[in-house]
Amino acid sequence: MLRWHGMRGIASVPSYVIMQPTTLCNLDCTYCYLPLRAVDRKMPVEVAAAVAETVNGWAADVPRFSVVWHGGEPLAAGREHLGALMDPFRGVEHHVQTNATLIDDAWCDFFVEREIKLGVSIDGDAVRTAARVDRGGKPAYDRIRHGIDKLRRRDIPFAALCVVSAPEPGLGTELYAYFKDLGCHALGINVEEQEGVNRRPNEIDGAAIRRFWAELTAAWRADPVIELREIEWALWYAAGVLDGTADDRLPRRIDPIPTVTHDGSVVLLSPELAGFHDERYGDFASGNVLATPLSALLDRVTEAPAGWIAEYLVGVEACRASCAYFGFCGGAHAANRYFEHGRFDGTLTNHCRNSKISLIEGVLEYARG
Ligand code: SF4
Repeated sequence: MLRWHGMRGIASVPSYVIMQPTTLCNLDCTYCYLPLRAVDRKMPVEVAAAVAETVNGWAADVPRFSVVWHGGEPLAAGREHLGALMDPFRGVEHHVQTNATLIDDAWCDFFVEREIKLGVSIDGDAVRTAARVDRGGKPAYDRIRHGIDKLRRRDIPFAALCVVSAPEPGLGTELYAYFKDLGCHALGINVEEQEGVNRRPNEIDGAAIRRFWAELTAAWRADPVIELREIEWALWYAAGVLDGTADDRLPRRIDPIPTVTHDGSVVLLSPELAGFHDERYGDFASGNVLATPLSALLDRVTEAPAGWIAEYLVGVEACRASCAYFGFCGGAHAANRYFEHGRFDGTLTNHCRNSKISLIEGVLEYARG
C-alpha cells in the first residue's frame, strides 16, 4: 500500500469558519441531525465580533476566506440580525446555506448587496424532496421552489445540496436532469448520514450505491454544465493515481473547520457534534470565543490535542495504516465515527462506504463501462 503523507495533525489556521446565527429552523426535515432546531437561540453580535477579530487577520493573508452561515436556518435569524452579525467581518466571502423557503425580494436585495454565495437544500422534484417538511408535517417543496424562483428571476447564482436516501436505479440520471433544469451552477450530493438526532440506519447495498455514482458520472459526462462536487473530486483524485501524484491530493494537515455556535462555543472538525453532550467527551467544545480568541484556542488544540480530538487523530492514523482509500478520503469526518461507532478511533463507517469508497468505485465502474 502507498504511504500517505497528507492529513498529519491539525492545521492551526482553517480555510473557513462555520457560524450558527440561530439554532432555529422553520422546517422539520425527517433526516435532520440538528438537536435544537425547534428553539430560537440567536447569536449575539458580540460573538460575531469576537470571531471577526481573528478571522479578519486570516482573511488578509489569503485570496479567499469563507465565513459560512449555517443554522438552524440562517434566514430565520432575520435580515437585520444576520446583517449585524456579518458587519464586523472584513475581506471575507460570506456563504449562506438555506432551505430557501423564506427567500423574498428583500432577501434577494440583501444577497446582492452583500455579494453572498448561496447554497440551497433541495433533493429533486416534489416526490424526491418529500422528507423536507414543516413542523405540521406539510411538504415544503412548493415554498422551496418559490424561493428558488425568486433567485432565478433576479439572476442570483446558487448551488444546490441534495440528500439521497435510497439510490434506486435511474436516480442518478433523473437528479442530474432535474438540477440542470433548476438552474444551479453547482451540485453537491450527500448520501443520508446516521448522525445527530437522525438515528435512521444508513446501510445501503454496495451495488446500488456504486450504480448511483456511476449513473451520475455518465449523466454529467454527457453534458457537464453543472459543477458536480463529488464526481469532479473523484475524477481529480483518479487523475492523480494515473500520473503518480495521488499523495499530493490531500492537504498536509487536517482543516480544523471551527463551528461557532450561537453562544460562542467552538466545536472543531465536525459541525454535527455541536449541541451534543457525552458522558466521556463532554460537550465537544474546545472553548468559547467570548473567553479566548479563536486563534489562541486553535493554537492550544493543535499544539496539544486532548480528549476526543486526540482520539480522533488516533483514528485517522488507523485509517492511514489500513485503508486503500485514505489518499482520497483522509479519514473522513469525526461526527460519522462518533455517531456510528460511539467513539472516534475506529475506521470504516457506513458513511465512508457510501460516500467515499463507493464513490470512487462507481466512477471507476463508469470508466470501465
Ligand atoms: S474510507 Fe473510511 S476507513 Fe478509509 S480512510 Fe476514509 S474513513 Fe478511513
